[in-house]
Amino acid sequence: MSRYIRPRLAEVNAYIPGEQPQERKYIKLNTNESPYAPLSNAEEAVLAEVSKLRLYSDPSCTLLKKALAERYGVKPEQISVGNGSDEVLNFAFMAYTDKETPVVYPEISYGFYSVLADLYGVPRCEIPVRDDMTIDPEDYADKPGMIIIANPNAPTGLLLDTGAIRRILDLHREGIVLVDEAYIDFGGISVLPLLSEYDNLLIVRTFSKSRSLAGARLGFAIGSPEVIADLEKIRCSTNPYNINRMTVAAALAVLAKDDVYMENCRKIMNTRERVAESLQQIGCTVIPSMTNFLFVKAPGRDGKAWYEAMREQGILVRYFGAGKTSDYIRVSIGSDEEMDCFLKATEEWIGG
Ligand code: PMP
Repeated sequence: MSRYIRPRLAEVNAYIPGEQPQERKYIKLNTNESPYAPLSNAEEAVLAEVSKLRLYSDPSCTLLKKALAERYGVKPEQISVGNGSDEVLNFAFMAYTDKETPVVYPEISYGFYSVLADLYGVPRCEIPVRDDMTIDPEDYADKPGMIIIANPNAPTGLLLDTGAIRRILDLHREGIVLVDEAYIDFGGISVLPLLSEYDNLLIVRTFSKSRSLAGARLGFAIGSPEVIADLEKIRCSTNPYNINRMTVAAALAVLAKDDVYMENCRKIMNTRERVAESLQQIGCTVIPSMTNFLFVKAPGRDGKAWYEAMREQGILVRYFGAGKTSDYIRVSIGSDEEMDCFLKATEEWIGG
C-alpha cells in the first residue's frame, strides 16, 4: 500500500474471493460455479462478436434489458445491469447508503456486504441470526438505512419464504430492501410478485450460478422504474460500457435456451439432495439448502481440518474461518462424478 491512499481506505480489508488455482487441476467446489458448460449457441454468439470488438458495446444494453424484461414479465425500465451482481450491489451501496444511512444485514451472510460498507465508510448493522442460523424478520424492525437479505442466504443456503420477506418490507417502509437472489433458481421462490406492491423492493440476480456464465460477469437488478433509474444513473456515471459485447451476446444466447439452464438447476438440486443424504448418513450436520451448495459440519472436527484434507486430495471447498461458522465448510454442488469424489474423500477422512 502506498502512503498516498486515504486513511479510511487504508483500513479496508478487500473481499477475498474463493481460490481460482492456475497451477494445477482441482475439483472446484469452492465458488458455486455451475458444473455445466454454456451451450454451443453461446459459444457461437461470443465468437461472432470478436470481429466487432473495435466498437463499444451498447451503453443502454437495450436488447439485454428487453430479453430480461420479457423473461421476468416486467418492463425494460425495471431492469439494470452490472458487471457481475457484485457491481449491482456496489451501485446500490452508492445510491442508498452513506455515513448517516447504514446498511443492515444478517451477521451470517455474503461477505461482500461488509466490504462495500467499509469501502464507503457506511455504518454496518449486523443482525444476529438464531442458533440454527435462520433469520427472524421481526429483528429488522426500526432499522434505518438499506436492508440486504440474501435469499436463499449464503453461506447457509437457508431460504426465507415470501411471507417473511413481506414482513421485512412491511417493517421497513422508509428505506430500500435489497433481496439478493443469486441462488433463487435452485428451488427457491422469488419475491418478484411483491414488486407491484412495494416500490422500495430491489431484487438482484446473477448469471454466474444457474446460467453457467460466472466468467462472463453479468448481474442484473429488477425494481420499480424509479429505483432502477437511480442505479442506471450510477452505472452511467461510473462506466456506461460495463457490460461488454461478448457478455451481452452470451447472455442473449443463454436466455434463448433458458429452459435448458433451468433443467440444469433441477439436475444440480437432485445431486444436492443425494449428497446431503450421504453426508447425513456418515454423521455430518447438513443445513437444509435451496442453493447450489451445502453448508456442512463433520462430527467432532472443525471446518479447517476438513478443508485441508480435501485440498490434499485435489478437491477445493470453502472455509470461512473463525466465529460461528468455523465448524462448517461450504461445498458447491458439482457434477455427479465430482460429488462422488468428494464423498469418497470425506468418508475416508472421517473414517481415518
Ligand atoms: N450474491 C451472493 C449471495 C453471492 O454468493 C455471490 C457470489 N459470490 C454474488 C452475489 C456475486 O456474484 P456475481 O458477482 O458473480 O454475480
